[in-house]
Formats: sequence, C-alpha cells, structure tokens
Amino acid sequence: MTITVMSKSYPVANIDLAVLQHNLELVKRLTPNSKVMSVIKANAYGHGSIQIAQALADSDAFAVARLSEGIKLRQAGIQKDIVLLGGVLTAEELQAAAEFSLSIVFHNQSQLDLLSQTQISKPLTFCWLMVETGMNRLGLSADKVDEALHNLTQSNKISDSIGLMSHFANADCVDDLRNQQQLAKLKQCTDNKNIPISMANSGAILSFSASHGDWVRPGLMLYGVSPFENKSASDLGLKPVMQLRSVLIAIQDLLAGDQVGYGGDWVASDATRVGIVSIGYGDGYSRQLSNVGKVVINDKIVAVLGRVSMDLIAVDLSNIDKASLGDEVLLWGSDILAVEDVAQQAKTIPYELLCQVSERVKRDYHNG
Ligand SMILES: *Cc1c(COP(=O)(O)O)cnc(C)c1O
Repeated sequence: MTITVMSKSYPVANIDLAVLQHNLELVKRLTPNSKVMSVIKANAYGHGSIQIAQALADSDAFAVARLSEGIKLRQAGIQKDIVLLGGVLTAEELQAAAEFSLSIVFHNQSQLDLLSQTQISKPLTFCWLMVETGMNRLGLSADKVDEALHNLTQSNKISDSIGLMSHFANADCVDDLRNQQQLAKLKQCTDNKNIPISMANSGAILSFSASHGDWVRPGLMLYGVSPFENKSASDLGLKPVMQLRSVLIAIQDLLAGDQVGYGGDWVASDATRVGIVSIGYGDGYSRQLSNVGKVVINDKIVAVLGRVSMDLIAVDLSNIDKASLGDEVLLWGSDILAVEDVAQQAKTIPYELLCQVSERVKRDYHNG
C-alpha cells in the first residue's frame, strides 16, 4: 500500500538556513581574529543537527555534548572537526571517539588516565583541556594544567597541539566582574605558552570582546536568539531561525461558566469563542504556558486558555475577526512573538524551549 504524505502537516518548525548563515556571519564580524566552533549539541538546539551542520559549512569546527551526537554527524558525512564537550567516560567510548575521528575535551584526571591506559586505533586530533575557572562543573583545576598539558603533548595518542578551554558561568550578565575573573584565570594557565584558548559562548561573543581568544563557541546566537534578558535579538542584529507553527483544528463557542481543558483551570466569564490548536507538551510546547502563554493568529497576539495538554491547547479568539479551521497559528519566531518572549511567559530560558521541540514536530528547511 502506498501512503500519501500530505504536503503540509502541522505542527511544523520552519527553519531558515539563510538566516542561520546570516547569524554566523555576524559571529564572524564580531570575532575577526577567532575561529568559530559552532555548537550544535542537543540536535542543534532543536533545529536538526545534520541539516544545521551542513548549512554551517563556513564554520571552522563543530561542538556537541556527547559521543552519540558526534557519531550521528559522522555517519551523516560531516567531515569537519567535531569536539565532544563532555569528553568520554569509558575505554569503549574513547575507542569509539578515535574510530570516528571525534575530538575530546579532557576535563578531569580520570579521563587523562584513561587515555594513557587505552589502546586506540588512531591518534586523536584537535583535543582540548577544560580548565576550572569558576563554573565548578567540568574542568581540571588550574594548578594541574601544566602537568596535564605536558603529558598530553608527549602522548603519541594525540597527534597535534592541545587547546585550553573554559566556560563562563555568567556570560549573560554583561560587565559582571566574575567574567573578568574567569578569563584571567584561564589566561594565567597559558602564561607565555603559545596555546590556543577558547572561552566565549554567545553572551561573551556579543558583550566581552577581550574573551574571544583563538576559538569562539557560539550556540544560541547562531539560532538567532538573544542570550540577554534586556536585549532583543533584533537589537543585536540576529534573526530567528525557527518559526514554530501549528493550526486551528476546532472552534468552540463557550457560554459564561463553561470551562475548557483539564482541571477546569479556566472558566469563561462571558460568551467566548475559543480556538483549539494542534500543539501540546508532546510537541515540546511547555506545560508551563498553561493560562499564561501567548500565540499569534492572523497577526494578532492571543492568550492560551487553561492547561496545555499533550496534543492540544485552547486559545482566545474573541478579538480575532475571522478565524476559521485550518488557520495557521504561530507559537514563536516572529517580531511580535519571539521565543525569548515565550520563555519569559513559561518562566524558563529560550534554550530550553528550543531543545524541547520534540520529534513529532516536522522540521521544514528553506533558504530565505
Ligand atoms: C552549550 C555550550 C556553548 C554554547 O553556549 P551558548 O550560550 O548557546 O552560545 C559553548 N560552550 C560550551 C562548553 C557549552 O556547553
């Protein structure tokens, strides 16, 4: 039996690869003396890691969090350097990383021991040492760096030079003194040695040029989203790559006293026209948006009514002149409703909303 696939299906994440490239160009303009390691972990922040890697051919390298993410990109034919930000934990993982030519971030002593104890099929390249400078998450303490660098440089399992990496805990707080302190700590480790350093994520790329170093690591800004609470993406010259859309699949005319959705959290105080939209937490539309979310229908912002359910939300159509079944609903990604706005409504950060867009949502790629 042949199955006909509908040309248009909802919900859909429309992903503009030309806009992605525009955002990468901005990174490059801001960091003319640095190379760019584009961060495409977590399925490229929900945008689809393979398509995003292909479209970011002008980056100098890629970074992901985990081995499985790196292998997926290699199996799709991506050939640039791919750095595993979380490193590896076991001999099997180390061997797999070598086999797939994935680069490792070493962030603790047991990983360094693992390297010296494990046979690998070919030497690793483009590896990094993560230095603890204030995040207290991953990283070797600064006083251990010299010895580790010495050992890694001597090791015949690593065929080129090692870089020093660290990560800001407060890059979204412009001019925060702690950023200066973290950078100073990393720089102390390099002394007068000629070692590449990498520190800056999106927040630091946009606000702390002294931290750019040899390699910058943009994530969020590539996807056109602002890392700062008080600055919009367009203030920064960024454009959103993803527009999340769905469709009205039912309209209900409620009377005063009628409730909508689970739990009856919202009750009509007057006669209200309610639209039912095919999106829910099963698609990654956060349940935190219950009763507080906003969506766009026919260029107007309208409110989410009641609880977000797995597949559906209810929205207020009272102020929409002509709403009909099949009308498109924008969940985020436009000037009037950015994912940053929705994140505020949900009391979270745009990173989380983007990563949560689930497999059920089709990614539809276009170029401009
Ligand atoms: C995720 C991540 C980045 C990218 O951060 P953004 O704020 O999205 O730019 C950079 N470096 C490391 C180590 C990361 O884990």
